[in-house]
Amino acid sequence: MTEKPAIKVEKLVKRFGANTVLSGIDLVVPRGQVTCLIGPSGSGKSTLLRCIAFLEEANEGLIEINGEPLGFTSGEYGERNRLPAAQIQKVRSHIGMVFQQFNLWPHMTALGNVAEALVTVRGMPRKAAEERAMAQLSNVGLSARAGHYPSELSGGQQQRVAIARALALDPDIMLFDEPTSSLDPELTGEVLNVMRELAQSGMTMLVVTHEIGFAASVGSKIVFLDHGEKIVEGRPDEVFGKPRHERIDQFLDTYL
Ligand code: ADP
Ligand code: MG
Repeated sequence: MTEKPAIKVEKLVKRFGANTVLSGIDLVVPRGQVTCLIGPSGSGKSTLLRCIAFLEEANEGLIEINGEPLGFTSGEYGERNRLPAAQIQKVRSHIGMVFQQFNLWPHMTALGNVAEALVTVRGMPRKAAEERAMAQLSNVGLSARAGHYPSELSGGQQQRVAIARALALDPDIMLFDEPTSSLDPELTGEVLNVMRELAQSGMTMLVVTHEIGFAASVGSKIVFLDHGEKIVEGRPDEVFGKPRHERIDQFLDTYL
């Protein structure tokens, strides 16, 4: 298990009707490191994350989570061969996901939002779930806000609750899809700081972000996607340093 990467993707193809959104992506996410996925809007970043989390089903290619294949082996890998649902659920339980929209339940407090899945999905007694939720809220610096409803929290605080909610389920891989893109600039830092601390704790992370400063300082590896293809991959200094790939230049011009 130690030699196996946390995530391995090979020749992944995803189509929506006639539109090929991912055209044969290879990606390795090493354990205990932060891999940042960057690229223009519409390049397929969210779709790739959603395929890895099995929220979308790819058409071709291979995905392995912790060395375990996650279904669909068609195309050059032969007959389509999905894993049984229970097994997919088990592999997925290793993955936590945080989205651009925080998706908190408005009628539940911060504590309730973090505890809910522990009770309903994991079958934990309410009291134990709330203790665990409290510890997670404290980790993201929000113990004082446990009793607040989402409408009483800032966007940055809501996103930190969403991170605590994902972490409460004890994942060993965290996927982030533009977690700060819907935040006002002054609230971005507090969320990035929580993510930085999580990275320092050794969490395996795959992060879609336009925060180039964060990607360059926290990412071990940068993967640049354009039009459903991996164009460049490397350490931050290789990807952002000069000489630079022309499309990275264009991208930086647009997003910096
Ligand atoms: P990114 O996250 O890099 O902005 P996306 O993965 O969201 O890109 O989208 C890549 C392409 O796939 C876009 O052209 C988008 O319109 C298309 N797409 C994404 N989701 C769907 C869907 N559910 N149905 C049809 N097309 C989709
Ligand atoms: Mg996206």
